[in-house]
Amino acid sequence: MLRETQERAQSVVERAPSPPQVNAYEMFQTQVDLVGEKLSLPSDLLALLKVPERVLEVSIPIRMDNGQIQVFQGYRVQHSSARGPCKGGIRYHPQVTLDEVKALAGWMTWKCAVVDIPFGGGKGGITCDPTRLSLGELERLTRRYTAMILPLIGPHHDIPAPDVNTSAREMNWVMDTASVLRGEPMYAVVTGKDIAVGGTRGRREATGRGVAIVTQEILERLGHKVQGATVAVQGFGNVGSVAALLLHQAGAKVIGVSDVSSAFYCERGLNIPEMIAYVNHSPHRLLAGYSAPGAREISREELLTLDVDVLIPAALEGQITEKNADQVRARVIVEGANGPTTPEADVILEERGVTVVPDILANAGGVVVSYFEWVQNLQCFYWDEEETNVRLTRIMRRAFQEVWEYARQRKASLRTAALMIGIERVVQAIRLRGIFP
Ligand code: GLU
Repeated sequence: MLRETQERAQSVVERAPSPPQVNAYEMFQTQVDLVGEKLSLPSDLLALLKVPERVLEVSIPIRMDNGQIQVFQGYRVQHSSARGPCKGGIRYHPQVTLDEVKALAGWMTWKCAVVDIPFGGGKGGITCDPTRLSLGELERLTRRYTAMILPLIGPHHDIPAPDVNTSAREMNWVMDTASVLRGEPMYAVVTGKDIAVGGTRGRREATGRGVAIVTQEILERLGHKVQGATVAVQGFGNVGSVAALLLHQAGAKVIGVSDVSSAFYCERGLNIPEMIAYVNHSPHRLLAGYSAPGAREISREELLTLDVDVLIPAALEGQITEKNADQVRARVIVEGANGPTTPEADVILEERGVTVVPDILANAGGVVVSYFEWVQNLQCFYWDEEETNVRLTRIMRRAFQEVWEYARQRKASLRTAALMIGIERVVQAIRLRGIFP
């Protein structure tokens, strides 16, 4: 029975249409150009902001369970350390490329600057399909990758964290590998760990919680209430499921949810706690096979065009493009994912009056609580969950207010405003530090 469900889930993944082919690094560079012009930045500085400081590409040999050696490509990119150690997650996905990791590292730089935490930006990734790896293979892959990027990472250099398809389990292995190889406890080398091994309370939920906080903020600013607001969520992983749950608990009606395997719609509002329980028990944590009275299956494309107050893309980049932006019927988009909207789609959405709360603000809750975890590791002094959530809420609300005000004063979109604030802060740090030598 389990095997059957497993196979069904697997074949669903195989049938899943691949996401639109968008080069994330080109998207990143276009955004920097647009904002650089608005900030009247000189072209030499702009050229500096558009490229990563350092790139490491590794070929990771793994002994597979069948005895064969398989080589995986992995990356760690440090975009900027102007404001502090580089910070950003590690992604496991078949579509990971160096260009994608470079873009994601750059977005981390602006993100940490927008919420004003003392980090620069970095990102890592391994091109692999984790659903096809055994637990042992996954552990060997994670540990060997950690060993190979060890010259770059460290509590004061570059601090990885979870991202798509990685979680506390992988971060525990990263911490253990770094500690064993360096011969000393290295809790602060990575964030997003389990609480028993130096993780912080509230980190797992932090990105989704941040998304829920800014959703409430934007609804309020636009004169709506969260109670009764209709919401659609693309992606039911760590970000999408927690955001959906918290908004559901706050009284919103989550009428659509999708993941890589399927999409569901229920006019009365989906039973989010039940869907989370279903996913937690399903192989590969997928929605495939879910059923409930009143809930009907829709296409994953349809989810993005549902008539809702809030659409939360919380999956991968390049989901809302010039091809589907004119069909989006949401009043507000809150970007749980990194880079879900292309610059071309941004133009269309703006013309159509759709308000977009940009990724570097909307999904910053994760890295904010990563910052708290790092602080606690360095101080060996641990907080309770309330302390984490109170501080997270304070930072998210402050950053939201700053972006909102900046956008209003300059009559700019929230994305432009957030990028302007983030890039300005990084530029200020570069100017104050000077260029070595
Ligand atoms: N991967 C998350 C992000 O894209 C979290 C990064 C972190 O905590 O360092 O923001």
